[in-house]
Amino acid sequence: MSDMPSDILIKQQIIDTVRMFCTHGLGVGTAGNLSVRSANGFIITPTGLAYEQLKPDLLVELDAEGNTVTGHLRPSSEWRFHRDIYRSDDEAGAIVHVHSPYATAMACTHQSIPAFHYMVAIAGGDSIRCADYATFGTAELSNYVIRALQDRKACLLANHGMIALGRDVSSAFRMAQEVEELAKQYCYSLQIGSPVVLDNKEMQTVLEKFKHYGRQGEEDN
Ligand code: 13P
Ligand code: ZN
Repeated sequence: MSDMPSDILIKQQIIDTVRMFCTHGLGVGTAGNLSVRSANGFIITPTGLAYEQLKPDLLVELDAEGNTVTGHLRPSSEWRFHRDIYRSDDEAGAIVHVHSPYATAMACTHQSIPAFHYMVAIAGGDSIRCADYATFGTAELSNYVIRALQDRKACLLANHGMIALGRDVSSAFRMAQEVEELAKQYCYSLQIGSPVVLDNKEMQTVLEKFKHYGRQGEEDN
C-alpha cells in the first residue's frame, strides 16, 4: 500500500533528524537509531545503514509485537527497546538513541546524572538514571532500559550511550541535545570541583514550575 502524505513527511523528518546526529555532535557513523510511533506500531531506521544512504522506503515499520509491516531491510538491532518503550509509555511518540560523547562518558563510568543543575528536571525527575549494562539489541538491555526510564523521558545506557523520548521527532531530538548538554556540564563540573546537588524539595519545586514553563499569557509562578 502506498504511503499517506503524512507518512512521507514523517519518514523524511526521520531521515533529516538522524543525519543531524553527526552534524550536531551526537555521534558518528551508524551509531544510534530513531523511531516514531505509527498507526500500526512504529517506524524505525534500518540496522547498519549509513545515514547518507537512507531513503524513505528503506525505513521499516514494525507492529506492536515487533513484526515487520512494511520495508524489506532488517530493522535497527535495538527494535526491542523501542517496542517496549512504546508499550510502557503512552506519551512517547518518538525515540532517539545516540552514542553522544559526554552522555556516553558518564554511561561508561556507570554514573547517573544527579540534580547538579535544575535542568535535570527536563527528563522528568531528580536524576537521569544509567541503565545497567547488557549486550546491545537484547531483551535484557530492554528490561534495564524500561526500569531506568520509570517516570523519566531519558536515560543513559551503561557502556553504550543514551535514550531520549519525546511527543514527536523534534522533541525527542531536543531531549537528546539537552541530556548531552547536561552530561557535558556535569563532566566539566567534576573536573573543577565537587558539583553541589540540589535537594529533593528544590527539585520538586522545579518540576512543578516546569509544568508551566514557557507558556505565554499565564501568570508567573
Ligand atoms: P543499529 O544500526 O542496528 O540501529 O545499531 C546502532 C546502535 O546504536 C546499536 O545500539
Ligand atoms: Zn547504540
